[in-house]
Amino acid sequence: MTSDGAARVTKVVIVGGGTAGWMTAAALSRLVPSGVSVTLVESEEIGTVGVGEATIPPLLDFNRMLGIDEDAFVRATGATFKLGIEFRDWARLGDAYLHPFGTHGRDIGGVSFHQLWLRQAALGNPDPGPIGDYCLSAVAARRGRFTRPSANPESVLSTLFYAFHFDAALYAKLLRDMAEQDGVVRVEGRVVAVERDAGTGFIEAVRLEGDRRIDGELFIDCSGFRSLLLGDALDVPFTSWKHWLPCDRAWAVPSQRQGGLTPYTRATADTAGWRWRIPLQHRVGNGYVYSSAHIDDDDARRALLAGLEGEALGEPRQLRFEAGRRDRLWERNCVAIGLSGGFLEPLESTSIHLIQSGITRLMSLFPDLGFGVTEIDEYNRVMLREYEQVRDFIILHYHATERSDSPFWDRCRTMAIPASLSAKLALWSGKARVFREQGELFTPDGWIAVLLGQGIRPASFDPLASALPADESARFLAHVRDVIDKTAAAMPTHEAFIAQNCAART
Ligand code: FAD
Repeated sequence: MTSDGAARVTKVVIVGGGTAGWMTAAALSRLVPSGVSVTLVESEEIGTVGVGEATIPPLLDFNRMLGIDEDAFVRATGATFKLGIEFRDWARLGDAYLHPFGTHGRDIGGVSFHQLWLRQAALGNPDPGPIGDYCLSAVAARRGRFTRPSANPESVLSTLFYAFHFDAALYAKLLRDMAEQDGVVRVEGRVVAVERDAGTGFIEAVRLEGDRRIDGELFIDCSGFRSLLLGDALDVPFTSWKHWLPCDRAWAVPSQRQGGLTPYTRATADTAGWRWRIPLQHRVGNGYVYSSAHIDDDDARRALLAGLEGEALGEPRQLRFEAGRRDRLWERNCVAIGLSGGFLEPLESTSIHLIQSGITRLMSLFPDLGFGVTEIDEYNRVMLREYEQVRDFIILHYHATERSDSPFWDRCRTMAIPASLSAKLALWSGKARVFREQGELFTPDGWIAVLLGQGIRPASFDPLASALPADESARFLAHVRDVIDKTAAAMPTHEAFIAQNCAART
């Protein structure tokens, strides 16, 4: 019994054993008090999406929360370190910029660093150079270097942030081992029906082929694009964002590793979408995300294969999807986590993060058998807003382009954008203001890197940036750039760091 009289949830059923299913199972088994049984149903025959190799920094918190040793994790998943994403050919053909994790310079007297940089760029002489020169993660990424950050806030190394490129199947295996050790029961089989209470509409059980039945109190839908529980059984509608994000297919293929290990993901804009390159220790992950209305499948496949650096390891695999999300992610006694709740293309590597976010928010609003509506509404409010914030950030990359070399880019450049993104752009276009909404994933530094990288220059800058005498401000910028340059130069190469600390055993 809980304090307000409702009985506790004691039986959780997870449907699906992809990244979402096993992340959820590992977290629940470790964090929910004893007395709660967790059963996970998955079908090997159906399989998983099987892509999803690039992540963003909050994953470190998730792994820490589960007590996963980082070097052991990197070894087990063939991971490499990721300091950001390089965007090639997005604003114009031949352009490149980095969206690094981490911060630019340091604020002075309440004035953001990027405002000081913009003022110096307006004054000229000396030219401050690209804003990326003032971000340690960006400079280290360009030089192929990596080390772990410092916990000392006085050190410039404390401004370095990182994530991983990893083999998602190996990560799911690691989590599965942990979850099973903690008592999660895995059931192999295909769900063929969902039983609901005739009065409340709550899910009571799932039926498996072979006339097996698994009953539960809280159901987590991790069934992927099928959305078996939330979509099919509970009929929660899907809102499409295809009009803003028209890419709906991808070809994916791993290739042999060639040359050095870049500590960043590469996203290269192509005629009708973009190609990813994700370096792991033992191979490189590649894909072409494209709009089927603007290129046919064979041409997209050829473009992917033509862009590989090393030999393809196998045949490319096609995936189909639609950008958008369910109108509620928690309905009655069912929470959708992962692709069953929604999909946003992997341009900013956010899907695994949205899984993590769903799990941590579920933990903080964990229900009793009363399934309080206020808490369910709150979960839906914050999760749906997070999806929209990520959506807007991704749309920005497509919309802020000067490219006019294909119908796809013409469409992206001229399309109407969501009002929430227009409002952000209006604030930026004036005096380069960027504010982080409550609970927003991307930091102002992330927005600044992409806005400037995509070539959107504000008309002006914060008038307070002129309070600092011009020569003092120029000296400050030069000092920051120098410290970052020397710090990056002293770091080991990415490969040397992995070899010394966490090389996968082959
Ligand atoms: P799935 O992997 O599809 O798992 C679904 C599970 O449900 C499976 O175990 C399946 O067997 C089970 N199931 C389904 N139906 C039944 C049934 N009837 N009975 C029993 N079991 C059933 N994310 C990132 O963070 N970074 C990336 O770089 C990235 N790249 C991506 C690239 C592409 C092209 C795509 C499409 C996605 C990418 N993602 C990426 C997203 C990422 O792959 C997914 O978020 C992640 O894999 C989670 O998937 P899932 O577990 O929700 O679904």
